[in-house]
Amino acid sequence: MTDDKARYQPSDEVDFVIIGSGAAGGILAKELSTNGFRVVVLEQGPYLTESDFSHDEIKILQEDLLTNHPKLQPNTFRKTPDEKAKPQRVLVYGRAVGGTSNHFTANFWRFHEIDFVERSKVGPIPGSTLVDWPITYADLEPYYTKVEWEVGVSGLEGASPFDPPRSKPYPMPPLPTKSNGVLFERAARKLGLHPFPAPMAILSQPRAGRSACVNCGFCLGFGCEVKAKSSSLASMIPLAEKTGRCEIRPNSYVHKIEIDSRGRAVGAVYFDSKKNVHLQKAKAVIVSANGAETPRLLLLSASKKFPDGLANSNGVVGRNLMLNSGGISLGVFDEQLNDYKGFAVSRILHDFYELDPQKVGFYGGGGLDARFDMTPVNFAAGAGLPPNTPRWGKKFKDAIAHNFTRTVEIFSHGTSLPKEDNSFSLDPDLKDAWGLPALRMTYKDHPDDIKLAKWLNEYGLQILDAAGAKQKWTYPIEEQQFAVHLLGTCRMGADPKTSVINSDHRTHDVKNLFLCDGSSFVTSGRGQPTLTIEALAFRAADRITALAKRGEISA
Ligand SMILES: Cc1cc2nc3c(=O)[nH]c(=O)nc-3n(C[C@H](O)[C@H](O)[C@H](O)COP(=O)(O)OP(=O)(O)OC[C@H]3O[C@@H](n4cnc5c(N)ncnc54)[C@H](O)[C@@H]3O)c2cc1C
Ligand code: SF4
Repeated sequence: MTDDKARYQPSDEVDFVIIGSGAAGGILAKELSTNGFRVVVLEQGPYLTESDFSHDEIKILQEDLLTNHPKLQPNTFRKTPDEKAKPQRVLVYGRAVGGTSNHFTANFWRFHEIDFVERSKVGPIPGSTLVDWPITYADLEPYYTKVEWEVGVSGLEGASPFDPPRSKPYPMPPLPTKSNGVLFERAARKLGLHPFPAPMAILSQPRAGRSACVNCGFCLGFGCEVKAKSSSLASMIPLAEKTGRCEIRPNSYVHKIEIDSRGRAVGAVYFDSKKNVHLQKAKAVIVSANGAETPRLLLLSASKKFPDGLANSNGVVGRNLMLNSGGISLGVFDEQLNDYKGFAVSRILHDFYELDPQKVGFYGGGGLDARFDMTPVNFAAGAGLPPNTPRWGKKFKDAIAHNFTRTVEIFSHGTSLPKEDNSFSLDPDLKDAWGLPALRMTYKDHPDDIKLAKWLNEYGLQILDAAGAKQKWTYPIEEQQFAVHLLGTCRMGADPKTSVINSDHRTHDVKNLFLCDGSSFVTSGRGQPTLTIEALAFRAADRITALAKRGEISA
């Protein structure tokens, strides 16, 4: 740390304590400190920088160097509330300064207008708590633009006929087309579809002292060694620190939000790296710990005044979990494609963003992309090999040697319907390494989500066919038990009976407690939630700044 960086004592009452430094937390830290507020960001993970990142597949992917660790923070899973949950890893997220934005794939799609008003359009869906957002696409549009320009997104304005309106083009051109992008584009056009360059949170040109992508090939799951991936770590945290008003405090695991006798938040209680406990005092608390850890922290913060968990007087905290549905079709081609080089995705299509339930027989919609995102070890471990490939001996080695450079994956990403019982809650039995109740996931896909995933997967196979794949297959579509998109668990809404925060991200129950991250979502979109998470964070920073300046937070 250099000397011009802010440092506060836990006893200093700062303006805001932000819990979590990921996609949303990084933006809130930058915006609020730039707006003149004194900010402490408490992040449970370490402060790694690009020089700490490596291509060590074992350490990064198998030993969870950058992510939540199943031994330190174990989970349990059950399909329905009647079952007893069993220990099982249920999620992966980034556990370091920058959060999950450090190691994500960086597909960066805007939501469309429909995502905000779908309930009004399609009507009630049995078995789902689908509702409209209290804000519209038009409310968020300026903030989508802000993310694209400030964080750094490459893409091509007007390339998709299905795109929602935008006020400004992308700040830089799309990334180069990969071999799988060429095949995808040709095949999709043959089928009468409209493929276009994928908008990616990866720099195609040098920008703001950061390098353009150098196609290192260890992208999904890895931190970027040249700051080309537009993580909060590369884009926002340095600007927050530069203000001299924001301290990023790593290795600080928050386990309680402290409340005074009036029911106002007074700060965040955390373990430091030696498990000593501190209270960081603040005039207001913002939780950006993601769609799993934000509800968990609220439930851990139960008190006499809030016996069922903080901001949970209506019992909605943790519910309405959405994961995004989807599937994977794979194809092997004769020619070498060498798509292991570089970032993962260069072409996508949105022709199926809004499927007509009357025609297809289910609710939903989604997008498709072409990619190759496997590393040598996970490919050889079987993830990329066709079913029935021998897993030993010469035939196994030949299959790896031939297919690694010739395989394309078609990923589908779709809607996930909110259901009241799908949730994150506290496990009554299992504890983490700090003695806190473990995260329990209760989840069963809505039947329409499964139908949609199968439908999209079939289309993936048709594209592979049209592209000339010599062999093709799909991963089976099964009910999901593992989450990477963590959405909807503290949903936004105008009605305090059915939502946790209002459209300013303020909790209905506690005036100086704000939540902003994937948990704020009302609908799931069609995958790729992070641009929307970040647009919400920029908007939340504006709303919170206005409230603070009018004296409406501390009063
Ligand atoms: C492998 C993978 C690939 C993905 N690819 C894409 C993609 O291509 N496109 C896309 O849009 N999305 C993608 N995502 C999802 C995306 O990364 C997340 O949606 C996004 O980062 C979530 O942002 P967030 O602010 O809600 O939380 P996060 O970015 O997860 O940040 C939360 C932070 O809070 C910290 N924290 C949690 N609890 C505590 C606590 N108690 N005390 C202190 N700190 C705490 C965490 O350590 C973390 O740093 C991917 C996710 C994964 C796992
Ligand atoms: S492929 Fe590009 S963006 Fe991804 S980690 Fe490598 S250099 Fe960074």
